[in-house]
Amino acid sequence: MKNLKESAFKQAVNTIISNKMLRGMAVKQLDKYLYKNLMNVQGEQLEQEKLDQYAFMTSIVQQARKNLDKGFIKPEVMKKMASVFVGDSYTPDRHKKLNPVKEAYKEKYGDYPPQFLVLSPGKGCNLHCTGCYASADSAIAEKLDYETTRRIVREAHDLFGSHFMTISGGEPFMYKSDGKTMLDIFEEFNDMFFLVYTNGTLITEGLANKLAELGNVTPAISVEGWEEQTDDRRGKGVYHRILKAMANLRNAGVPFGISVTATSKNHEVLINDDFYKFFFDEQGVTYMWQFQLMPIGRGKDVTDLMVTPPQRVALYNQWVHLLEDKHYPIADFWNSSSLSSGCIAYGRWNGYFYIDWNGNIMPCVFVPYHVDNVKDLYANGKTLIDGLQSKMFKNGRKWQKDYGFENHDHRGNVLMPCSIRDHYDNFKHNILTPDAKGEDEEAEAVLHDPEYEVMMKNFDDELEKLTQRIFDEKYLKKVPAETFSK
Ligand code: SF4
Repeated sequence: MKNLKESAFKQAVNTIISNKMLRGMAVKQLDKYLYKNLMNVQGEQLEQEKLDQYAFMTSIVQQARKNLDKGFIKPEVMKKMASVFVGDSYTPDRHKKLNPVKEAYKEKYGDYPPQFLVLSPGKGCNLHCTGCYASADSAIAEKLDYETTRRIVREAHDLFGSHFMTISGGEPFMYKSDGKTMLDIFEEFNDMFFLVYTNGTLITEGLANKLAELGNVTPAISVEGWEEQTDDRRGKGVYHRILKAMANLRNAGVPFGISVTATSKNHEVLINDDFYKFFFDEQGVTYMWQFQLMPIGRGKDVTDLMVTPPQRVALYNQWVHLLEDKHYPIADFWNSSSLSSGCIAYGRWNGYFYIDWNGNIMPCVFVPYHVDNVKDLYANGKTLIDGLQSKMFKNGRKWQKDYGFENHDHRGNVLMPCSIRDHYDNFKHNILTPDAKGEDEEAEAVLHDPEYEVMMKNFDDELEKLTQRIFDEKYLKKVPAETFSK
């Protein structure tokens, strides 16, 4: 029965991709399938979490359909992507047995392996954006050598059974080592799907066509808002170069997304629907990831750029509106944790971890502390799996479970999921271990800065005051106290 349902799911996906006439009907079929599967998932997920997940998934399908209809995504490119992506990472039933590698991992280590990792193979970038943790002079920038990069991808594939990887930077399309680029990786691992965070400025017609030919890569292009906000942070003329990259991707038929860092400066733009209308409806964006500027590393100098707790709540409300009313598939690393049952860092099952250009293994892009280094592990005959066994990683996974992920007795506030940003005190004293080192001097320096700690704690206290009630009423379905006092 299950196989029948799965084949109907795949059939619907194939029809959406290749049959324009029957596309509308297949979308409805797929929609029903997604709803039923997501709402029937057993476990600790709250009803509202499942509804949020459904709203996100159905928005992805609807946006992809619009872009297929408009010819912004070529069916043959989408087909290739679906053959890699649908059926494993994209399965709507996250509790089903996935594949033998994952089962074997669970047997040995007590839990399923992480679903993916974020790999930044090189720090080199052709832009120098305010507050970016990665920008550097590309000529002397640190990077992993090609064989190490290749081995990391191989191990994620073979040891974790992962078919999805995120590539970040620096600028990934600038990476070159031993005459090889990331395109060589994408070509070799053609049963994996790669999401590449890029500034977009190197996506020429030629590169867009190459990505179409590969069929297993989607670029997520960084945008800061309109031209004013984008050029202000990324440099003059960058906005227009981004629009040109989008045109190249549309012409080649490659699905692409945008990645937006929310700051106090572009907050007004992000709570206005016009921004999304332009990028989703006119530019043919298929998805959007949102991040909120973290005041760590170089960001410490720009703490005034952080969104405030009230601004974050406004962004949460905007996210709900955009997903439910407009069906724009958007996920925000902090406000959308109902999509992932909380924080996904520390190599959690169904989650991820991060490796930077020096080989440092970190819980998350936004948790810049490491105990292990991949080059050291490899030199000592170990593998990526050993990098997930440090006390810091274990502390993080324990906190995630206690906070609410798979906890029958307690559900932590889903609007405050972040192990470092939203629970800094706990992170510093209960997760971080003495053997952990900062990714750079600034990440190290903030650990010894009492003002930083107070700033983070005040942020967390204010955020709790603003969000606890939303969580109680909307997600836990607790009846507001005033209902009784009437
Ligand atoms: S540590 Fe924070 S930013 Fe990283 S995955 Fe967890 S919630 Fe997201």
